[in-house]
Amino acid sequence: MHSNRRKATRILIIYTGGTVGMVVDSQSGALKPIGFREIRDNIPEIVRLGFEVDVHAFNPPLDSSNMQPAIWVDLAGIIGKKYDGYDGFVILHGSDTMAFTASALSFLLENLGKPVILTGSQLPIGEIRTDARENIITALEIAAARKGGKALVPEVCIYFDYQLFRGNRSKKYNAEKFEAFYSMNYPPLAEAGINIKYQREAIVKAPEAPLKLHSKLDNQVAVLKIFPGINAATVDAILATPGCKAVILETFGSGNASTEAWFIAALQKAIARGLIIVNITQCDGGAVELGRYETSAQLLKIGVWSGHDLTFEAALAKLMFLLAQKHSRKRLRELMETSLRGELTND
Ligand code: ASP
Repeated sequence: MHSNRRKATRILIIYTGGTVGMVVDSQSGALKPIGFREIRDNIPEIVRLGFEVDVHAFNPPLDSSNMQPAIWVDLAGIIGKKYDGYDGFVILHGSDTMAFTASALSFLLENLGKPVILTGSQLPIGEIRTDARENIITALEIAAARKGGKALVPEVCIYFDYQLFRGNRSKKYNAEKFEAFYSMNYPPLAEAGINIKYQREAIVKAPEAPLKLHSKLDNQVAVLKIFPGINAATVDAILATPGCKAVILETFGSGNASTEAWFIAALQKAIARGLIIVNITQCDGGAVELGRYETSAQLLKIGVWSGHDLTFEAALAKLMFLLAQKHSRKRLRELMETSLRGELTND
């Protein structure tokens, strides 16, 4: 990038916390998040990138296991407020719930025309073998990347260990490897080697319409993950969760579940009461195909919705987003089963 252009490029880093900025507590010996200074002091290279980089730091920073839907709304609000002043956004975030945050932001930020890149690290920035430096620097490069005056990646993404993924397709799958994330049902949007190679056909086109910021999420959702031997009391308790409007049913393989009469009857009763049940697979790759087997045909018949190839994280965020919009049940189903932000494949 031409150096004058780089100078004119403005990126906002939003530091929420996570291992990236953690140090070992001298008393407990556990990792805990500290302020942004630790990060800045350890990456003097940020200045050498030549962009104008501002920082919005959470105080106190969070371990992402404490992430909440209200904070997703706050994060989207910060981006909405600063949207015109910056070319791109880098969110430093704990890896544990990064895929949830990325999924939620993808729905809250409709018609996004600028990069929102989440990254973090498996080892704190102060550790000699840290993966934080590469992750942050390349995330900044991606957030700044433009072609013909337009952002190359106008999406909410996760950048981790040399790969850029669509946020609402990503999953943290490994707690040990530097390669902590994958996206089983959608190709990486870019891979970083000597050059950053963008897969242009996989990246959404920047929308013509202006950014539309949403600010409501409804967390009246529950999860029923089935297993061989699950008992009726457990199923009934989850389906009868007070206030619950929708249940994500995590099924086997391509959307299959037990055909036992008590199980189907429990789901059917809950649906008749008005509960929404969305079927997603426990597999990380592949999709729900209701009706492919006898063990899913019944689910279709009683009115279970298909989550297609949604990740659990995207299904949860999408339900919270759609439930907050008070659509009719019919419309809600249409929206749930259609791609809104590239989060599912349903052709
Ligand atoms: N517990 C940390 C967090 O999610 C883990 C990490 O950042 O990798 O905040």
